[in-house]
Amino acid sequence: MVKKIFLGAPGSGKGTYSSRISPILKIPHISTGDLLRENVKNKTKIGLKAQDYMNKGLLVSDEIIINMIKERIEQEDCKNGFILDGFPRTIAQAEALKKIIGIDVVIKINVPNEVIIERLSGRITCGKCGKIYHKKFIIPKKEGVCDKCEGKIIEREDDKEEAVKKRLEIYEESTKPLIDFYKNLGILKEIGVISSPDETVSLILRELIKR
Ligand code: AMP
Repeated sequence: MVKKIFLGAPGSGKGTYSSRISPILKIPHISTGDLLRENVKNKTKIGLKAQDYMNKGLLVSDEIIINMIKERIEQEDCKNGFILDGFPRTIAQAEALKKIIGIDVVIKINVPNEVIIERLSGRITCGKCGKIYHKKFIIPKKEGVCDKCEGKIIEREDDKEEAVKKRLEIYEESTKPLIDFYKNLGILKEIGVISSPDETVSLILRELIKR
């Protein structure tokens, strides 16, 4: 059983690293952002409640998120462990998680603020499969069309400038305190991102193996 959390600001790459590490360790990558977007797409009760908050870059209520994650980690595919990405984002969520299940290690991805702002302000996404591109740095081969699934590429509402500012403010206020929370539990591991994503993935894997 390997239970991990990836912490870091929006745009720090936690989603990318979690999705690369998940098939290597053969445990599911659980992103609360992806789960919520799926609910919004399917117009579920959760989706209808969450949509407005998400578009504005605000946090969805702790109650909705905690119930959603509890249900997800009780599923069969999580019996050998999981990687959480985008959860917890508040101390209340971290306290609730602690009551549900113990976590082994929390990986905090450190990326300079300028890099985060540059990444987020140019981010575009495939509306169908969710693959992430960048207006300047990761350009799809055919303009506006996803290389992977040929879906239409869009700019997520919450990647627009106002929402990006809000998301970073909320990270500072609500999510940063989690660093001390997990430091105090003695399970925080900070990783500085190095040149290539491949090297960073190897570095994270080496840290995980040490434990
Ligand atoms: P993400 O893809 O992780 O950036 O999440 C997109 C949006 O979903 C966030 O801006 C929030 O509105 C919402 N969200 C995702 N995870 C959480 C969470 N743990 N707590 C509250 N809201 C969340």
